[in-house]
Amino acid sequence: MGWDFSTDPEFQDTLDWIDAFVEREVEALDLVYRCAGDPWDPASPARVAMRPLQAQVKDRGLWACHLGPELGGQGFGQLKLALMNEVLGRSRFAPSVFGCQAPDTGNAEILARYGTEAQKARYLQPLLDGEIASCFSMTEPQAGADPGEFTCRATRTEDGWRIDGEKWFASHASFSEFIIVMAVTNPDVVIHQGASMFLVERNTPGLEVLRDVTVGPAPALDGGVHGYLRFTDCRVPPSSLLGDEGRGFDVAQSRLGGGRIHHAMRTVAVLQKCLDMMCERAQSRRTRGQLLGDLQLTQQKIADAYTRITQFRLHLLYAAWLLDRDGSYTRPVRREISAIKAAMPEVLKDVVYPALHLHGSLGMSNETPLMNFWQMVPEMGIVDGPTEVHQVAVAKSILRERSGTKGTFPSYHVPARTEAAKLKLGVTG
Ligand SMILES: Cc1cc2nc3c(=O)[nH]c(=O)nc-3n(C[C@H](O)[C@H](O)[C@H](O)COP(=O)(O)OP(=O)(O)OC[C@H]3O[C@@H](n4cnc5c(N)ncnc54)[C@H](O)[C@@H]3O)c2cc1C
Repeated sequence: MGWDFSTDPEFQDTLDWIDAFVEREVEALDLVYRCAGDPWDPASPARVAMRPLQAQVKDRGLWACHLGPELGGQGFGQLKLALMNEVLGRSRFAPSVFGCQAPDTGNAEILARYGTEAQKARYLQPLLDGEIASCFSMTEPQAGADPGEFTCRATRTEDGWRIDGEKWFASHASFSEFIIVMAVTNPDVVIHQGASMFLVERNTPGLEVLRDVTVGPAPALDGGVHGYLRFTDCRVPPSSLLGDEGRGFDVAQSRLGGGRIHHAMRTVAVLQKCLDMMCERAQSRRTRGQLLGDLQLTQQKIADAYTRITQFRLHLLYAAWLLDRDGSYTRPVRREISAIKAAMPEVLKDVVYPALHLHGSLGMSNETPLMNFWQMVPEMGIVDGPTEVHQVAVAKSILRERSGTKGTFPSYHVPARTEAAKLKLGVTG
């Protein structure tokens, strides 16, 4: 039959080890190192504490499991990766401790796929070893979801390329060794054929970080990690072109699929954590002589949260299974990833809000992770493309497989179907 929801016992042992290790060793980093860039920034004081943990992960053969064996990973595939990320997503530091942190994972993926040997030697190996950070920069201040509005331009010079324009929300740009930048190389064709990717080293003259933007209500300039970049006559050599000229979108597309599904996997961890917190609260807090968990309105919140999490999780595991089966981002895989991406802010809202609400003033405070999770609701609706764009992609892919009818009434109109059924069954009257 081929339908099986079980995890093989050997891999379950691995998951149990990861679970205990994250709880025992890694979560301490989250509590102590609170700056926005700490898990990724090679200059963060957290590095010293991370190193021995990363060594343990490497010893267990669990470093960079998203990579195939040819790049030093396990080639786990997406399904195992999903189960692993359900644990890692509990901690801000865990992905970095296990060598599978965004955006470096996606950047490594495209370097491995599209990079020349020289590019791989210079950028990929230190990235895989966790020695440097990297940045991926497409979005511009005036355009994000619609790349047709991108204006950052790369023009050929006698000895390479010259980049001019602005980029926005380039996460980790300030401490990245290199930035993968999408620029328009031919404005006379559609953007999907006229954009190219460049590897720009952080200290290249002509590249400025105007400021680091912060997500959320913190005062501006307070530890943001999303770079607002300006390129002014920024010269890069021919060898900085990543992939073929004009094929920037192919490069970007192959990266974003993985990024979106990994975000979703880690979101499951956040949702499970909310459910755990809700249940602990419901079984501890008393009101009017009874536990919150004895009240049916609380029970409804818990039941709804559990159902939403299970639905979302199974959809995600299905998408991961499909990706493993097809081996690439086929149309059916892309549909499921977009559907999950669109559902993510909704399921977060449906679970984080009641969890936060059940905690009363404590939930509103900075003394639980709940307000941080709450910020993920709008964030997951924007990052990697707004919800609407993914909903449109899902709907178009469904509609492509179906067609309308030419008749006045639809094909499922009961009177006509009844007549046909009577004819088939030989029933008159
Ligand atoms: C935390 C975070 C990290 C990020 N990191 C990076 C990064 O590292 N690199 C990078 O390049 N970018 C990054 N981004 C940017 C992100 O990819 C963009 O914000 C996203 O693609 C949306 O672009 P935009 O912000 O310009 O919004 P817009 O494109 O202006 O969209 C705004 C709103 O308009 C509506 N809208 C837009 N298009 C449609 C449509 N087709 N149909 C219906 N409604 C529509 C939607 O309501 C949408 O939310 C990051 C963003 C966040 C929040």
